[in-house]
Amino acid sequence: MFHTSCIEISQSALENNIRFLRSILGPEVRLSSVVKGNAYGHGIELFVPLAEQCGIDHFSVFSAQEALRVSKVSHGNSTIMIMGMLENDELEWAITNGIEFFVFEHDRLDQAIKIAHKTGIPAKIHIELETGMNRTGFAREALETVGKKLQENPYHLDFSGLCTHYAGAESVANYLRVKSQLVTFRKIAHRFKAHKLIPAFLHTACSAAAIRYPQTRMDLVRIGILQYGFFPSKEIMIHYFAQQESNLLPITRLLSWKSQVMSVKTVNTGEFIGYGTSYLTNATMKIATVPVGYSHGFSRVMSNRGRVLIHGKRVSVIGTVNMNMMIVDVSRIEHVKKGDEVVIIGKQGDLEISVSAFGEFSYQVNYELLTRLPADIPRRIVD
Ligand SMILES: *Cc1c(COP(=O)(O)O)cnc(C)c1O
Repeated sequence: MFHTSCIEISQSALENNIRFLRSILGPEVRLSSVVKGNAYGHGIELFVPLAEQCGIDHFSVFSAQEALRVSKVSHGNSTIMIMGMLENDELEWAITNGIEFFVFEHDRLDQAIKIAHKTGIPAKIHIELETGMNRTGFAREALETVGKKLQENPYHLDFSGLCTHYAGAESVANYLRVKSQLVTFRKIAHRFKAHKLIPAFLHTACSAAAIRYPQTRMDLVRIGILQYGFFPSKEIMIHYFAQQESNLLPITRLLSWKSQVMSVKTVNTGEFIGYGTSYLTNATMKIATVPVGYSHGFSRVMSNRGRVLIHGKRVSVIGTVNMNMMIVDVSRIEHVKKGDEVVIIGKQGDLEISVSAFGEFSYQVNYELLTRLPADIPRRIVD
């Protein structure tokens, strides 16, 4: 034991989601599983081997630290690609271990060339282009020099990819911006090709782009949120169903979050519950404490508004969410006792608490809620 709650990850749900992704992508498009942010809260150490069992052999991470975690649990035949932070003194580790990485500035490129010279091992680089997101990526003016460096170092630079990222493909508000990014990307890719600089993979699409703009799929897609069983936004879900005969949800949530009743007691009418005066009993009530609070990722915004499942019934969080526990109203539940299962996210009986219901209450998007689940809550695989 030694924990107050537990996160379950469903293997069959992942199998289903990967099957769905392959069916829409077809055999020509490589699928990179994005596992940054502790695999969107699912836990890198548990998720990576599970994904490999489903045939995934390409992982995208944000940092060298995450790449190291993936490499430790991978079967060793998967590609690992760092999309963001990589210090110059981590470069040698990346290059000698065959870890691929985005390059979006000259300093990283020059250091990579230097280390490749020194070690005799080519650096596997993905040149990231600035196409309009204005975050990272080489500006157009820098590309002549980049091209020259690629041509001058054919044995030290392995041109693994040419890529970019869209500035909000999940929202139609960004339609023109995304379209113009795609046009820019294509133009630059053609220029590279005209100079005989041909990357192994052209890649631009995240989950939203892969669904909403199929022309962005190219050679490889970087899929995060969809594989975990969530649409990137309601708009993307509506777009998907508009294209579809069936109205069956094609993806399934992998994650459930469970705890247990810590104690049960009765409170008289006319009493305040917990800290302060936010909840006043208007009858004699039975309350249960659950040992999950905001320090465990259960937001304080859920005070007096959250719901959890106990005995297959939906019960309300009453009073403020504390650091380590919440209080719920179990007046309607007969025979509730210490140790009974509490579902915070997931199914119990016929009812379900979805991540989005949870997220809407706490004004968080799925992405934020998932990645804020503390890494030290134990994760386990279930069917
Ligand atoms: C996070 C990320 C993705 C994946 O995004 P999803 O919306 O979760 O599919 C793809 N590319 C880059 C560069 C990212 O940072």
